[in-house]
Amino acid sequence: MGQDREMRTGKCGGADSMAETMRLEIESHSRNEEFARVVVAVFASRLDPTLEEIDDVKTAVSEAVTNAVIHGYRCGPGTIYIEASVRGKELTVSVRDEGVGIPDIAKAREPMYTTDCTGERSGMGFAFMEALMDQVQVRSLVGEGTEVTMKKLIGR
Ligand code: ATP
Ligand code: MG
Repeated sequence: MGQDREMRTGKCGGADSMAETMRLEIESHSRNEEFARVVVAVFASRLDPTLEEIDDVKTAVSEAVTNAVIHGYRCGPGTIYIEASVRGKELTVSVRDEGVGIPDIAKAREPMYTTDCTGERSGMGFAFMEALMDQVQVRSLVGEGTEVTMKKLIGR
């Protein structure tokens, strides 16, 4: 009996191996960026991260969402799709837009590369994402949109 209860309330469905996922859709406004990064941070908190790890995740999400707003949708209307999942100790976050897309992904990922001509952007967003997360994958098609998928092991 005691053993039964332990099986039911313990690792429900084998939490270590099964992914848990959350999805969030936000309108493309820079004021929604903070909301998105906080939601992902709260979701990631189930992995018992350090404050530094949470800050890293928040900054990376913030850069990706800001890119979707500014570059993907060129500050116009659109929807940003955010998905976060945990599997074991690994957090995966993807940020997707259906905006203009990136013509040359390798170039876009180079530090200091920016298509911004106002002088406000430094072209360091992707470099930050790469520095703060373990893995960053960018998929993009011109005219269809961009998806940035980032992974990080938490609490190594
Ligand atoms: P910073 O992030 O330092 O403010 P930035 O946004 O220009 O400047 P990155 O975030 O590294 O720098 O992005 C580099 C370039 O990649 C951008 O200037 C833009 O041309 C392109 N880019 C990035 N994300 C997207 C996106 N979601 N849709 C379309 N183009 C993008
Ligand atoms: Mg950027």
